[in-house]
Amino acid sequence: MPDLRFKPEPAQHTEIPRPKRAEGQWALGYTEPLNKNEQSKKDDDPLNVRDRILYTYSKRGFDSIDPADLRGRFRWMGLYTQRAPGFDGGKTAQLEEEELDDRFFMMRVRTDGQVLDAAALRALGECSTEFARNTADITDRNNIQYHWIDVVDVPAIWERLEGAGLTTVEACGDSPRPFLGSPVAGIAKDEIIDGSPALEEIKRLALNNPEFSNLPRKFKTALTGHPSHDVAPEVNDVSFVGTIHPEHGPGFDLWVGGGLSTNPMLAQKLGVWIPLDQVAEAWAGVAGIFRDYGYRRLRSKARLKFLVADWGKEKFREVLEKEYLGHPLVDCPSPATPLAQGDHVGVHEQKDGKFFIGATPVVGRIDGTTLTALGDLVERYGAVGARLTAYQKLVVIGVDGADTEAFADDLEKIGLTARPSNWRRTAMACTGIEFCKLAIVDTKERARRLVGELEKRFPDLDTAISINVNGCPNACARTQVADIGLKGMLVLDGSGNQVEGFQVHLGGALGLRAGFGRKLRAHKVTSAGLDDYVTNVVTAYLADRTDGEDFAT
Ligand code: SF4
Repeated sequence: MPDLRFKPEPAQHTEIPRPKRAEGQWALGYTEPLNKNEQSKKDDDPLNVRDRILYTYSKRGFDSIDPADLRGRFRWMGLYTQRAPGFDGGKTAQLEEEELDDRFFMMRVRTDGQVLDAAALRALGECSTEFARNTADITDRNNIQYHWIDVVDVPAIWERLEGAGLTTVEACGDSPRPFLGSPVAGIAKDEIIDGSPALEEIKRLALNNPEFSNLPRKFKTALTGHPSHDVAPEVNDVSFVGTIHPEHGPGFDLWVGGGLSTNPMLAQKLGVWIPLDQVAEAWAGVAGIFRDYGYRRLRSKARLKFLVADWGKEKFREVLEKEYLGHPLVDCPSPATPLAQGDHVGVHEQKDGKFFIGATPVVGRIDGTTLTALGDLVERYGAVGARLTAYQKLVVIGVDGADTEAFADDLEKIGLTARPSNWRRTAMACTGIEFCKLAIVDTKERARRLVGELEKRFPDLDTAISINVNGCPNACARTQVADIGLKGMLVLDGSGNQVEGFQVHLGGALGLRAGFGRKLRAHKVTSAGLDDYVTNVVTAYLADRTDGEDFAT
């Protein structure tokens, strides 16, 4: 692989019209910071905060932390102040984010599609039980997320995690956020191409590299060589998706500019073929375009999707080829899109004759005790380890055929199941008001109760209906691409009081029917009325569906 730690010399600039108003695009000469976030990043590379955490803040405690680090650069180390207890959803709108700060942190550990062996699972579990009050959520970006972290414990946690090959670096912030990799890379029988070497190279290239530590905003990457497109590639900033060129064989198509939140956009497919050993170079090119041409004036416009929407994919490809790669990309039809994206739940044979087992907690919530117990199971059965999925689930890898039933039974004993109901299988929820300062409503616990209630009301549901519960418009649990997407907000109850509730989006999907759910004005529901609302929607769908008609249709 070529050394790509520094971006290639740009070739001649493509003809890009200079906008009338400065959007903070460095490549067009707008290098002066246009807001306080940009100023902070210019004042000091956020990666430098690591040493201050190790040698100052962890020794002197929370009150010693410089506010610019606390509310800014800490995020580059995967640390984010959690929401102080005692503020309801109404306060979220009334107070500045900082006023909701607790003295404890959320900490995000990135796994980037790597296999977590028994030692890594135990390290994750022990950090949770010793330092995070036994909290641990599996996020939909291949992370483990802790809460209740005290800054004085951060060096000990990092030492434990790094010993297991794990890091929190750039798990938040305006940086290359955790990478989504296929949970079945290298083992699935029907895989087009194993993208693991490319993902490792991207990680080596991207993390701790000042070339990519000051991006306009977050930058989300997904890579899969599996035909089920199991990493939600439509809603990432940059995605590499396995495809087969009629002459060159397996490689990757490049998709750019996907993202959700308040202006959702599906990624645009460039229709190219990139060989495995050139994926990292292409990633660096796309990240470089974002860094150099991305909008930095308004945070709400500072995602790659806005640039891609303004340029169009033809212009984007031209700039990538001419200025960043220095060679043209090979044309190739984009890969066939699956009807639904793979979650890999259940028992499946691998190409080496062993088996993988996809298992699910409820909406990603586990704890340290469970992680440690999973590590013990992996060791006891001689399995290889586990990967996290883009659906808040996990996949155990390398189980002997004779052990699959026993392993699945043991998973049940620790609160995971490889035989979930369709409700549990598809539901996701973001962090919500329990810990997130932007949240308006409770999500994890509300979703857990909803799943339990639906399992009772529709015990034999024969189709998957996904429900994604989000605490605010930011759509961290992908509001707009669920069958039933729920966006947290305050709504009026029957007595005219403001209470926790949701705006409903109906009929969103990824895969073949990829599109955003319809947001019907009238479809707002109180949190208390959610069980009955979903029951009515599902009852109506089941009564009216024709043969083979899924919910999104
Ligand atoms: Fe927080 Fe909103 Fe994201 Fe949920 S969707 S985790 S409430 S920012």
